[in-house]
Amino acid sequence: GLCQKAQFLISATRLDQCPADEGVEIAFVGRSNSGKSSAINCLTKTGLARTSKTPGRTQLLNFFSLDEHRRLVDLPGYGYAKVPMPLKQHWQKHLNSYLSNRKSLVGVVLLMDIRHPFTPFDQMMLDWAQTNKMPVHILLTKADKLTYGAGRTVLLKTQKELNENWADTASIQLFSATKRLGLDEAYQQLALWLEI
Ligand code: GDP
Repeated sequence: GLCQKAQFLISATRLDQCPADEGVEIAFVGRSNSGKSSAINCLTKTGLARTSKTPGRTQLLNFFSLDEHRRLVDLPGYGYAKVPMPLKQHWQKHLNSYLSNRKSLVGVVLLMDIRHPFTPFDQMMLDWAQTNKMPVHILLTKADKLTYGAGRTVLLKTQKELNENWADTASIQLFSATKRLGLDEAYQQLALWLEI
């Protein structure tokens, strides 16, 4: 994995509960069911982020430490049909305030299900990143759901869409937690941001 010493640090429901804003941090974002927990598990060590979650738990910002100076943060997911609107707005507020205030944040990993790229949530994140000059690395998750050829086609199409709408904001790759596909490519980007 990215770091064998990776461990769960804290769940924060409010910004003032976040770990000290020092060192470097990478945030993982994506709508619910995009494969975010599976990717974090795959990139660190198994079981770090639970894959079966309840809406209650996902409203928290979950911090993982890689070492003394480096962290990953699992940001709230969106898209639970059963979650009432006020709760969604509550999440949105947390996400906004984390993103706009966190000085140690060096990059965002955006997870998009390869079969449903560029949801409104994804577009909102990319707009924010472009405005704030925050680098984004996109994982097209569950790539194993498509054939190799179909996966490459989606990759090319999404690359084109990024160039047209969010030039110089994001890089993108195929990823599968199940088949452990695209791990090295993802490590390379994370290591660059984390200065490992
Ligand atoms: P999260 O809600 O974004 O954290 O998504 P999860 O990691 O919990 O995954 C949501 C669902 O997609 C689960 O049923 C996972 O088993 C499945 N899933 C996650 N990653 C992959 C993958 O790479 N391939 C396939 N086929 N399924 C995956």
